[in-house]
Amino acid sequence: MAPEEDSPKFDVVISGASFAGLALACGLSQASGETLRIALIDRNAAWGAATESDSRASALSAASKRMLEVLGAWPMIADEAQSVAAIEITDSGLDAGVRPVLLTYDNVTAAGDPATYIVPNSVLHRALCSVAARMPPIKWIAGSEARDFASTETGVVVRLADGSELDAALLVAAEGRRSRLREEAGIKVVGWSYPQIGIVTTVRHELAHGARAVQHFLPSGPFAILPLKGNRACITWTEDAGEARRILALDDVGFLAEIEKRFGGKLGTIGLDGPRQSWPLKMHLARRYVGQRFALVGDAAHGVHPLAGQGLNLAFRDVAALTEVVSDAVRLGFDAGDAQALARYERWRRFDSLVSAATFDGLNRLFASDLTVMRAARDVGLGLVDRVPALKRFFVGEAAGLTGELPRLLKGEAV
Ligand SMILES: Cc1cc2nc3c(=O)[nH]c(=O)nc-3n(C[C@H](O)[C@H](O)[C@H](O)COP(=O)(O)OP(=O)(O)OC[C@H]3O[C@@H](n4cnc5c(N)ncnc54)[C@H](O)[C@@H]3O)c2cc1C
Repeated sequence: MAPEEDSPKFDVVISGASFAGLALACGLSQASGETLRIALIDRNAAWGAATESDSRASALSAASKRMLEVLGAWPMIADEAQSVAAIEITDSGLDAGVRPVLLTYDNVTAAGDPATYIVPNSVLHRALCSVAARMPPIKWIAGSEARDFASTETGVVVRLADGSELDAALLVAAEGRRSRLREEAGIKVVGWSYPQIGIVTTVRHELAHGARAVQHFLPSGPFAILPLKGNRACITWTEDAGEARRILALDDVGFLAEIEKRFGGKLGTIGLDGPRQSWPLKMHLARRYVGQRFALVGDAAHGVHPLAGQGLNLAFRDVAALTEVVSDAVRLGFDAGDAQALARYERWRRFDSLVSAATFDGLNRLFASDLTVMRAARDVGLGLVDRVPALKRFFVGEAAGLTGELPRLLKGEAV
């Protein structure tokens, strides 16, 4: 689909209208008082179609929630967002009759707010779609794919699969882990595949979860029980690839039995309450986050192991930082693709994502070992955290996304 004849040129073209792309379009449009002309492209023909079938629920940090409040999306999410009041961590073998709790902590920030909320991905995507749809300068180009681009000092031309072209000052790839435009830009990624698969489903349970999230560290990967509204929980479960394929092929009775083996008995009888889905797991980090009039956000820039539930929160950090640097540049009279603004964005975000990716990768390796000595070492470590309130406060601050140099949107301030 070609841009309208009377506005062939955009300030910003965003390829990918999932969480990162939508939030960025909303952030930039709001920050500019709806003066920036933004085009949002996605290969999905119907907005939200991809995520309606997404059975995942995401652990959103307090900082991400603040940004969604500023953007006006949170009121559409609040009724479905389950706050997490406490977190329990266990570390045991698959066949352990009981899973002793090694570490438990109140998941509350220094200001007394929940550090994390569990939100179904479909709810989050729908809310962002409806905020973006209300912003007149955002032009939606659905059912189209960005193929390549050419940038110069004065602008960038984006070519779509149907042969049409869009002119812009800045092109952003929010295309997820297999970003085509990242490849077209010649930006290499470092990373590797995990020999694990992420399995996700929803269960209902007999007893109230009390807003408690549980992470069972098992030898083949972490098994997370994320509380949802009502007596329901989203299971985000990492399993050895071969075993995961066997489990995914089981009928519902067999699949539920595998969940019961890991779930523990604290919440009474459980039953399946949604489809099962799976994702191959990879860690990747783009060597650069920007090029000439070009930037990467979200999974196009980095992919992390889901064990800490931080991929989307990192994506929202990118969005908040890019919104801020671009808006500041535009207010100073530069255009949206200003090279210095993009360099500031890269300095702000790349190191933070690298540290997160390395930390989650290390945790996955540490907990995936069933060696007695490794188990003893990590149990001593967790026991230590359990006894030192300052360490617990540190972990809650990290989970809440409130550490480091925060962009204004993540502080709950308009840009
Ligand atoms: C099992 C699992 C559990 C997770 N749990 C959590 C969690 O609890 N908390 C958390 O913070 N994160 C979590 N994550 C990570 C999180 O889901 C991702 O980080 C997030 O989805 C990334 O969003 P994105 O917008 O960057 O990319 P994506 O959601 O991958 O979206 C990319 C979009 O770009 C479009 N697109 C791609 N290429 C083109 C093109 N060339 N032209 C046009 N359109 C294009 C696609 O159609 C798609 O809509 C989890 C991930 C997994 C696998």
